[in-house]
Amino acid sequence: MASTLNSAVRLLDLAAGRYGSKVGVADASSELTFARLRELALRAGTRLIREGVQGAPVIVYLDKSVNCIVSFMAVMYSGGPYVPAAADIPLQRLEKIIANLEPGCIITDTAKAAALDGIELGGAKVLIYDETVGGEIDESLVYSRLNGVVDTDPIYIMYTSGSTGTPKGVTVCHRGVIDYVSWTSSTFGLTSEDVLANQAPFYFDNSIFDIYGCLITGAKLIIIPEQFFVYQNMLPEFLRDNGVTTIFWVPTVMINVANSHELEKVELPKLKRVLFCGEVMPNLQLNMWRRALPDCIYANLYGPTEITDVCSYYIVDREFEDHEPLPIGRACKNMRLVILDENNNEAAPGEKGELCVIGSGVALGYWNELELTARAFVQNPLNPSYNEWMYRTGDIAYVGGDGLIMYCGRKDFQIKIKGNRVELGEIEAAAMCLENVQNVCAVFDAENERIVLFLESKGDFKLRTINKELLKYIPKYMLPSALRVMEKLPHTANDKIDRKTLGAMLREEGL
Ligand code: AMP
Repeated sequence: MASTLNSAVRLLDLAAGRYGSKVGVADASSELTFARLRELALRAGTRLIREGVQGAPVIVYLDKSVNCIVSFMAVMYSGGPYVPAAADIPLQRLEKIIANLEPGCIITDTAKAAALDGIELGGAKVLIYDETVGGEIDESLVYSRLNGVVDTDPIYIMYTSGSTGTPKGVTVCHRGVIDYVSWTSSTFGLTSEDVLANQAPFYFDNSIFDIYGCLITGAKLIIIPEQFFVYQNMLPEFLRDNGVTTIFWVPTVMINVANSHELEKVELPKLKRVLFCGEVMPNLQLNMWRRALPDCIYANLYGPTEITDVCSYYIVDREFEDHEPLPIGRACKNMRLVILDENNNEAAPGEKGELCVIGSGVALGYWNELELTARAFVQNPLNPSYNEWMYRTGDIAYVGGDGLIMYCGRKDFQIKIKGNRVELGEIEAAAMCLENVQNVCAVFDAENERIVLFLESKGDFKLRTINKELLKYIPKYMLPSALRVMEKLPHTANDKIDRKTLGAMLREEGL
């Protein structure tokens, strides 16, 4: 059925038809049935069309809540892509996104609308959420717009860290999402009886599994309230009290829960699926989960934002020793993974190379960034016969003896810190805006999982004051946790900042 849909919002129409009176989405203060979710989205969608949005992207800038999901659906009803923005996004970063995106509208609340007064909106209209859902529905207007959508049109644009300091807008199409959730729901056997607990922020594509997994199956989605991420040892109780059957979390959260030892104390008879994605899952904590909850299915999913969340998976079928690498497995349906060597030939089994992805989930590219797009999204060099869009992930991988793909890290300066994707270049670009700074280098100290900022300056700097400044440009999770000021940063023979020497200094001298 899903294979014939032109827009992912049709999944909401279907869910409202089949499971109308069932709760579809819930947060700490409210819950919406599928029918009510659709009704509110149609009201807001009608309003967007009447505002003349004409398929232009719409930023959703709200606190994480069911209102975000209503807004995403509304934007799809208006025929355009939605753009989730974090509620605590630094305004300077939002301004850069707006400049790149040229959105038609921004849906927000009154308090955030006031904050938007201070930045350049490039003509985007600001709509207050409560007002957009208060108007009437014009179904014929909405569906005539929706009928014009094709499944290769953009569904959302998610901004991810950019190495030049400007975030990149990964533009994903409806087909990618529809195929992906058709695959996940059948592979993991989700049904309308299931309850999913959403951890991922909506600007992070792990949330696609949660939102559309519920729409396609009629399962219930509960947005986990923020306080549970401050006190992560309370998460098992949350899962128990809400009858959660399925989680799809970043390993960082799973690690914290395992280390709290609450899994050994709280009974979770309903939990059936423990899926994780976004960074390396350490076996130590994975084994703690498996021992505490031996009847659950565990799956390591892999994928960058540029391929609609996930392109490979491995269902954990045995205990792994602490030092063994956990496979990222095999390609999902409608996706193909190829490992290319330095000469763009297919790497031999066991040989490391760059992991490249082909298939319906591959994004359309980076919004308004054709050059950047052309570098990462290329013609499959193994195919001389027809156009085949391939995404070069920048991840290093090899095919293991059993045909399973093994992940071995990055070939560039992109890192994962507590599940968040960060280009060290974005931190450096922000640090270059500080006064009296001649040069900068951000180094990831993997052993201690922290970012260290090296500054070339004759000035006197304190980490706390620097971070206060940096927060104007970059989100909290990108802030360095250590600082070193040097009169001159070391340089390589070809005059680049010598990251290796800085890394060695960290290891040898500490900070
Ligand atoms: P994001 O775009 O935020 O989803 O980050 C994508 C990057 O996270 C990938 O390119 C990988 O480097 C890393 N990643 C995602 N899933 C996994 C996984 N299961 N194991 C190891 N690294 C992963």
